[in-house]
Amino acid sequence: MLPLSVLEQAAAEMTNYQGSGMSVMEMSHRSKVYVSIFDETKADLKRLLNVPDTHEILFMQGGATLQFSAVPMNLIGKTGKADYAVTGNFSALAMKEAKKYGDIHVACSSEDGDYAYIPSQKDIAVSPDASYFHYCSNNTIYGTEWKYVPDTGDIPLVCDMSSNIMSVPVDVSKYGLIYAGVQKNMAPAGMAVLIIDKALIGNELAYTPKLMSYQVLLDSDSMHNTPPTYTIYMLGLVLKWLDTQGGIEGICKQKSEKAKILYDVLDSSKMFSGTAEKEARSDMNVTFRTISEELDDKFVKESTQAGFDNLKGHRVVGGMRASIYNAMPMEGVVKLAEFMRDFETKNR
Ligand SMILES: *Cc1c(COP(=O)(O)O)cnc(C)c1O
Repeated sequence: MLPLSVLEQAAAEMTNYQGSGMSVMEMSHRSKVYVSIFDETKADLKRLLNVPDTHEILFMQGGATLQFSAVPMNLIGKTGKADYAVTGNFSALAMKEAKKYGDIHVACSSEDGDYAYIPSQKDIAVSPDASYFHYCSNNTIYGTEWKYVPDTGDIPLVCDMSSNIMSVPVDVSKYGLIYAGVQKNMAPAGMAVLIIDKALIGNELAYTPKLMSYQVLLDSDSMHNTPPTYTIYMLGLVLKWLDTQGGIEGICKQKSEKAKILYDVLDSSKMFSGTAEKEARSDMNVTFRTISEELDDKFVKESTQAGFDNLKGHRVVGGMRASIYNAMPMEGVVKLAEFMRDFETKNR
């Protein structure tokens, strides 16, 4: 979801952005008016995420998935090796892609438990000569979330935060690289946001495509070619909206309350149960099932008829998943909780 107020503002500015006589979609990315949108968006992101001066914000097209390739291409050159924590579908895909570019070591995995848990620090085996350690902070499909930042000593942390970025305060200085496809919590689809420690840039593999080079993005301020201008503009509007919600601290409080409402339903139900272990539960993606696949199907069908969209779980896991990203209003969660309780009463 995107906040309704953001969509309404975009609609109001659609044909004539602030008296410029044109739509943001029509602007040259080098024009003064567009450059000011771009600069303000970056400045707001830097402020909201408290990005230190050691780090730079970059925008790259290709979503989070392109980073599965770009990360090793740009970073593995240091030692030829990297560590991966495998805690779900996306981290497994990231690791699989990285294997094309170097020697990959699985530092920990929760595959043995159907990805329903997050490994603890003592279960992480960090290689002393890894170029970086990659993990995914929120496992969108399995509904689990890391509640701590792994300690990897001197090995730079690289994190896919696609599905929980901007929902919880993060100490950016602990990370070598944070990346996120923007379409879950930040903007319409079309690019990834990267926050990178500039000291990590400069080890890219010789054949790294120009547009995937962190060095090229850094040197051109993410404007080596035309960036996804409208997506960046929308990101800017979402960041202004975040300010009205009390910034990331305010959003964090809201998302904990929203998730608790749904988890309370699961914990007090005889029909519904959560699929993730309690300590690992995600506040962004609440995964659950009923006592049978038939009842799951019935729930998905009836909830869709009642106006609740996208509750069917991802095809690799089945069951149900309520994605309650930042823009999901409290009301939506309260209504879903009511619907679940009613459904249980009617189908007892
Ligand atoms: C959605 C998602 C992706 C894939 O994002 P694209 O932008 O579609 O490539 C990768 N990682 C995580 C954690 C995601 O939630």
